[in-house]
Amino acid sequence: MATSFDVIVIGGGPGGYVCAIRAAQLGLSVGLVEKDRMGGVCVNIGCIPTKALLHSAYAANLVRHAAELGITTGEVKTDYGVAMKRSRRIAETNSKGADFLMKKNKIEVVKGVAKLKPGRKVEVAKAEGGTVVLEAKRAVVIATGSRPKDIPTIGLAFNGKTIFSSTEALLLEAAPKTMAIVGAGAVGAEFADVFSAFGTQVSLIEALPRILPVEDAEMSDVVAKAFKKRGIAVHAGAKIEKAQVKPTGVTLSFESGGKKETLDFDCVLVAAGRAPNVEGLGLEEAGVKLEKGFIKIDATCATSAPGYYAIGDVAGPPLLAHKGSREGMVAAEAIAGHQPQPIDYSNVPGATYCHPEVASIGLTEEACQERKLDYVVGRFPFSASGRARTSGETEGLVKIIRGKKYGEILGAHIAGAHATELIHELAVARANEYTVEEIELAIHAHPTLAEAVAEAALDSLGRVVHI
Ligand code: FAD
Repeated sequence: MATSFDVIVIGGGPGGYVCAIRAAQLGLSVGLVEKDRMGGVCVNIGCIPTKALLHSAYAANLVRHAAELGITTGEVKTDYGVAMKRSRRIAETNSKGADFLMKKNKIEVVKGVAKLKPGRKVEVAKAEGGTVVLEAKRAVVIATGSRPKDIPTIGLAFNGKTIFSSTEALLLEAAPKTMAIVGAGAVGAEFADVFSAFGTQVSLIEALPRILPVEDAEMSDVVAKAFKKRGIAVHAGAKIEKAQVKPTGVTLSFESGGKKETLDFDCVLVAAGRAPNVEGLGLEEAGVKLEKGFIKIDATCATSAPGYYAIGDVAGPPLLAHKGSREGMVAAEAIAGHQPQPIDYSNVPGATYCHPEVASIGLTEEACQERKLDYVVGRFPFSASGRARTSGETEGLVKIIRGKKYGEILGAHIAGAHATELIHELAVARANEYTVEEIELAIHAHPTLAEAVAEAALDSLGRVVHI
């Protein structure tokens, strides 16, 4: 086994493995240290298995309404264990895919726990036993990701049985009867969707005034309405005072809308954020500085210590796979001596895959107001889209916020079917500084959901056709 490489990447998640591939494409020799499975959180216990479960949830709800489509079924029964096993198989296939990509790109994967040593050296406690010291001729890239955070101060400490993180929720054999989900960001909202479809009585509890708090308020409203219609209890602006763990479950006391509630649940899923994996890495000895708990990086993902780079969740928000992958490419190119295009962090799409989906890019209307920008809003509801009607998915809207003077796209927000796919037209537009006129100029096929994007652009110009 080689021990000297141009680049050593620590962590095989979407940040680390993409960085390793890009470095190899640029002719550098690469060693990648991973203590667990290739693919990181995203592939194994994040993006991929949740989307597999969300597809099962979507199918369950579709079948429940099959009669409207002229299809008669018997009683609809769901089995979370079966859906969970399917999601594990998909995660495993993707992880093996990452293994294959490492081989294809001649990247040496070292299985074990890495720790930085002075002089761009990395000590690995190997999974098979023993240690090895690797040396990076050019750079070490830290891509160690993040882990779920619990809230022990109010009694919500993970115990793996009744209070758990997304990881345990993904591995449950059966859907519980009742569940409180604390935190209604993307992860909380996605699990609320999944468990409710599998028959769990879900209460979604969010401290901020609305669910999906980073999204535009109108999008939060669409999801809150849809969730309530499906029987999910949504408590926004709710402050949990105490969690009491009992042998059979958890009692939560919280205040919501001036009303005190004390409710019993079989279990609580805490989806209240993630902590970067910075401990035990030897960052201090290497001179790698932190900022607000995350590794501080510059526009090329270089840290405060020469020859050390950081990417992905460990390098700060947004904690999204595609942000980490792009940082991985930028870091690899900088290490190879290129001048990569700096990342435009204001142009990273957000995507939440509950039903209806939510996707966004750029500023929310609230942010435009805070910045006192002169803007015009264009909206198009899916209820007015022929294509949305054909599939019976008429909830939601496309909202485009344009600058009043120049027509630039300040922000775009979609809540509705396939929002996470539709957003990319607007991502391309914003990345290339297209105006709303240029969006509309491109002929959109009929009937498609994408027509709603063109119509929202037209609406912002006062020329909407189909409403
Ligand atoms: P990670 O994926 O966390 O990978 C880090 C890797 O480093 C791990 O494999 C770990 O084992 C390894 N490692 C850590 N320390 C060491 C060490 N000392 N030595 C060796 N190896 C080490 N993002 C999206 O964009 N879209 C989604 O739909 C989405 N869904 C999500 C759903 C859930 C339930 C969760 C929890 C997250 C989701 N995310 C999603 C976030 C996404 O998973 C992360 O942003 C992404 O995985 C971060 O990639 P990364 O490479 O920075 O780190």
